[in-house]
Amino acid sequence: MPIHEKSLIRPENLRTNEELEIDGIDVSGHWSTFIENRSVTDYNEAMQDEIAALPGGEFIHRCWQCGSCTNACTVNAINPDFNPRYWIYLIRCGMEEELLRDKDIIWQCVSCNKCTYACPRDVNPEGVMKATAHWLELKGHTEPKPAAIFDKEFSNQVFAKGKIEESSIMRRFFAHTGQPLLQDWLVALMRSLLSRLPVGLLMKLGLSTVFHPRTRGWSAASKALEDYVEERERADRRALGLKTEGARQ
Ligand code: SF4
Ligand code: SF4
Repeated sequence: MPIHEKSLIRPENLRTNEELEIDGIDVSGHWSTFIENRSVTDYNEAMQDEIAALPGGEFIHRCWQCGSCTNACTVNAINPDFNPRYWIYLIRCGMEEELLRDKDIIWQCVSCNKCTYACPRDVNPEGVMKATAHWLELKGHTEPKPAAIFDKEFSNQVFAKGKIEESSIMRRFFAHTGQPLLQDWLVALMRSLLSRLPVGLLMKLGLSTVFHPRTRGWSAASKALEDYVEERERADRRALGLKTEGARQ
């Protein structure tokens, strides 16, 4: 039987006989395209529980596979391989190896939350995407992605000063991700901002770049925040059966 939904099958799983004759009938090419048989033996039966234990993944069990999330997804419209419905299915089945084939695109979720509003079961697919990207990093399947590095720089500055200084965060982010400081898009953005922002605000920004202000009496709040984040990270690692020492670096 010809395969009508070829786009849903990975190309490496398709087999085509370029020259095949059966009972005198030429069934070459399209008429002899088959899907490769495969057996899945290495299920991770804890996978759904592991994702559900991470922030954002709590309601994955509610999914009934309607596909509204994928249908609404911003990234799927550009890249059909980005498929939240399918990944939720794999996680719920425990098909870890299959999920790992897409490990380098799952993090591309842009958190637009269109899927969250489309979901009839309140699964919070955006949260599941974040939890899955976090799971991939904690398990060592992927390196920390730029978004995670940026988050860390951002929170480290909040812990240290109780204030955000954008230029310092960007400098450190670029340094840690190996990017040059002067980038065309950044120069264009700075030009645009310089021509639009009020002079008073520009002076304030300039002064904060030089003097690095801190929030007064911040140390107690900073300690409480750091303790909370550390405890949260330990809990995430515990849920995945990982060592908890050195959770924050
Ligand atoms: S939040 Fe992520 S998964 Fe959801 S629609 Fe946006 S890009 Fe797609
Ligand atoms: S929209 Fe919700 S219920 Fe439907 S497939 Fe996506 S996560 Fe599952």
